[in-house]
Amino acid sequence: MSGTGNLFIVSGPSGAGKGTIVKELLLRAPAAWVSVSVTTRSPRPGEEDGVHYLFVSDTEFDGLVASGGLLEWASVHGNRYGTPREEVDRRLAEGKQVVLEIDPQGAFQVGALVPKSVLVFVMPPSEEELLRRLKKRGAETEKQIAVRLQTAEKEVALVGKYDHVIINDDVERAADELARLIGSYARGEESNTKSCQ
Ligand code: 5GP
Repeated sequence: MSGTGNLFIVSGPSGAGKGTIVKELLLRAPAAWVSVSVTTRSPRPGEEDGVHYLFVSDTEFDGLVASGGLLEWASVHGNRYGTPREEVDRRLAEGKQVVLEIDPQGAFQVGALVPKSVLVFVMPPSEEELLRRLKKRGAETEKQIAVRLQTAEKEVALVGKYDHVIINDDVERAADELARLIGSYARGEESNTKSCQ
């Protein structure tokens, strides 16, 4: 595929399964490229620097913000997260289908900057299932889980501002749906001209 690629923004509550779906997506859509965010959060067990995130100090994050190195950034659950701008621009210019897995604050910043970006919301099948997944992950304390559930409620209320909603009732099916969606934009069968406020 030649020409400029499309920018897909995938958001959804913590525990909705965005990360797993995006990982599965790469097996189905080799032309897709997923951005690695920078964060001030500490790595969870099993998370690798440069793979899951680029883990940086507060000072390093400040430097990236000051130098305009981030396409967008936001504070989520007391930590800061941001998308490195340069590599996203380069991959888009190469014609890649670029995927950002970011929260709604960041999604709307990018939506305003890049009107042709495609906003996709990954929805858990139910609140009970979301809670079950958050607990199963075992990465957060009860208190942190409660905060994530509160954030989830606020995020789900924003679903109407997204272009597409994928319900993650089954990871394989949801990943197929995302791959199909990306394919249809890549082939020009779908396009997004609406701007996001
Ligand atoms: P977690 O700590 O569970 O990995 O991520 C917490 C939240 O931060 C998730 O909603 C995730 O999508 C969001 N997030 C991850 N990277 C970025 C980013 O670069 N920018 C923004 N705005 N949010 C991000």
